[in-house]
Amino acid sequence: MNKISKLLNILKRNGLYPPFYRIESAGTNPEVIINGKKYLIFCSNNYLGLATRSEIIRAAERALKKHGIGPGGSRFLCGNIALLEQLDHETAKLVGAEDAITFPTGYMANLAIFKALMDPLIGNLPHKKGSGIIFSDEFNHGSIVDGCKLSYAKKIIFRHIDMKDLETKISTVPNNTPKMITIEGVFSVEGDLVPLPEVINIAKKYNAILMIDDAHGVGVMGEKGGGTAQHFGLESKIDIIMGSFDKALGGMGGFLAGSKEIVEYLRIASRSYMLSSAVPAVLAGGLIKAIKICETKKGLREKLFSNANYLRKNLEEIGFRVLGKGEIPVNPVLIGDEIKAIKFSEKLFRRGIYAPTYRWPMVPKGTARIRVTTMSTHTKKYLDTLLEAFEKSGKELKLIP
Ligand code: PMP
Repeated sequence: MNKISKLLNILKRNGLYPPFYRIESAGTNPEVIINGKKYLIFCSNNYLGLATRSEIIRAAERALKKHGIGPGGSRFLCGNIALLEQLDHETAKLVGAEDAITFPTGYMANLAIFKALMDPLIGNLPHKKGSGIIFSDEFNHGSIVDGCKLSYAKKIIFRHIDMKDLETKISTVPNNTPKMITIEGVFSVEGDLVPLPEVINIAKKYNAILMIDDAHGVGVMGEKGGGTAQHFGLESKIDIIMGSFDKALGGMGGFLAGSKEIVEYLRIASRSYMLSSAVPAVLAGGLIKAIKICETKKGLREKLFSNANYLRKNLEEIGFRVLGKGEIPVNPVLIGDEIKAIKFSEKLFRRGIYAPTYRWPMVPKGTARIRVTTMSTHTKKYLDTLLEAFEKSGKELKLIP
């Protein structure tokens, strides 16, 4: 315990302990109340503004009234209600897969998938323990990192979206070794989009299962919000699409989508699906409506992208370095030094902007950044307020000329 106190003291003394601002209003709206004061929020993943949309709330209310607040058990027991089967179905349709399995969080989906496919369920099936190799992008989300650990498979890291490095590494592995490639569709912290056609070619050439974590792509990318695969027109070429319901779809939960056979298998091989309660009906009811709105209201995505493009152009003009090429509607602004980034974020906060710092261990040391997320519900006035705060605070800290 002494050591924990020591650690906490070090973090607090150096200003590294996160502030955990207490939000007194809906944290998914562009304007939030903290300590009775209004702030503009630029860190919510509620990209399309669906979290507080009235049609969705009404659908959730109907499910809540019928089913109550909890599921009463896992899908194996009493949790397999009709509404959840409908959510599985609508989710699969959204991302262009045959079927889908849904989890209370995306993190749980990522904990399930690697073990299910790389660790034997019975005997040596599907693979002998520890015989598989997972090829994972160096900047993959921590839930993928944790999921890989549970799988007993060996993990080989390839450089971020570097297809040459991936191919060099995968080509040295014997043909009969069970292989899996895992990479995010939209790297929101890096500002990058996956080079999907190349990844698909490598997976096919070396007979590897391909899993795309599209937590930040679903709802945002593609004509109907089907995600990164839809953006590239390659829905049928991915073995497993993982997604999250708590970002563009405004709710909470996660899913794995793929062929009927893979999903049928995942229902009996995913420990976090079997050993934990089902998605509650209240969420399922709201999410089914959210998926419908996401598919039909293309204008929400257009507004999201135009907001993000406006910010990127102006942030760069002011002198900030925005990571990525503007293919995704998130603008990670690189600051570098952790302490400077924290001070910058504090200055923004004093100017009414809530945009926290991403720093080590979330990102490599010396690459601290502010991940500026936009929502389709941000107005131009909100965006201009952010730009003004960035410019003034950036000049004060000499981050920009
Ligand atoms: N994958 C990625 C890329 C994520 O960003 C996140 C959430 N930040 C997750 C998985 C986990 O999803 P959830 O929040 O639904 O648990």
